[in-house]
Amino acid sequence: MNEEKDLKKQIVIAEDDPVSRRLLEVLLTRAGYQVSVAANGTEALELLDQVDAPRLAVLDWMMPGLEGLQVCRKIRERKDRPYTYILLLSARVQKEDLLLGLESGADDYLTKPFDAQELRARLHVGQRILQLQDRLMEKGAELLFRATHDSLTGISNRGMVLDTLRREHSRQVRGAGSFGIILLDIDHFKNVNDTYGHQCGDAVLQEVARIMTASVRAYDTVGRYGGEEFLIVVPSTDAASVFGLSERIRHTIAAKPIATGSGEISITVSLGLAVSSGTAPLDPEAMLGTADEALYRAKEGGRNRSEMGVCEVAPSPAIAEVAPVKAGSE
Ligand SMILES: [Mg+2]
Repeated sequence: MNEEKDLKKQIVIAEDDPVSRRLLEVLLTRAGYQVSVAANGTEALELLDQVDAPRLAVLDWMMPGLEGLQVCRKIRERKDRPYTYILLLSARVQKEDLLLGLESGADDYLTKPFDAQELRARLHVGQRILQLQDRLMEKGAELLFRATHDSLTGISNRGMVLDTLRREHSRQVRGAGSFGIILLDIDHFKNVNDTYGHQCGDAVLQEVARIMTASVRAYDTVGRYGGEEFLIVVPSTDAASVFGLSERIRHTIAAKPIATGSGEISITVSLGLAVSSGTAPLDPEAMLGTADEALYRAKEGGRNRSEMGVCEVAPSPAIAEVAPVKAGSE
């Protein structure tokens, strides 16, 4: 928080006239700013382009090389950068000039000679706007997280993980290799809820989500697909690796009872897998259907097992090589 405040107390001033420049520097330093000084627009832009650059700028309009207006435009062209609050200084007093300045992306405008107190007050407004802007961004990020994540487990929600699946599919269409999905279902989950209550059921869901998240690579996506059903999207992988991951998750979950408010609960999971290879890609629907069918076989086969799906629509070499793979139950 302090660091953030400090960033907003840093300021870039750009002024080609040495006397005015020095005056500005002294004035703003006294007002508590950390001042970076530029003698022209090019220098100002360099200062403002740095990582963690000051986010407040006082720019003289008329300067050799890049003018204040041009610096404004260039700053506004940047995307994905924190907002920079810009105050233009100019001896121009026409209304058209003011409009031109604001249209170029300046936030405020002060005519020379300016009143020191007024400049300080206006920069204070700038700081406040930067703070509001930051809070808005934080809020936006928070809302986005809430809209895309499951509130109980903190992993991606159904919409988000399906988006990831579709994205991975289009990436494959553009020429990437194979990828896989795992559909995981907690065995006899209804019994957990019925016997121990929903709070324990929630604790089980959270722990299963935690184990899955801990088992995957950073670029895999774990999502809650339905009540006690989870979907993992595994990019850049083959059937053998997806199967290995599935078995690791299954073993980890089966190995240790889950601690809940009503004591330890032992659970197992069944997993259905599907792989879309580069040479015979499956669309998201076909993958989900294949994984679902494999999950059904895992359940039929006695649960606590991984089953590799075999797609009847377009069997790919990658699948044919390995499938059907079966893991014995424990
Ligand atoms: Mg000038």
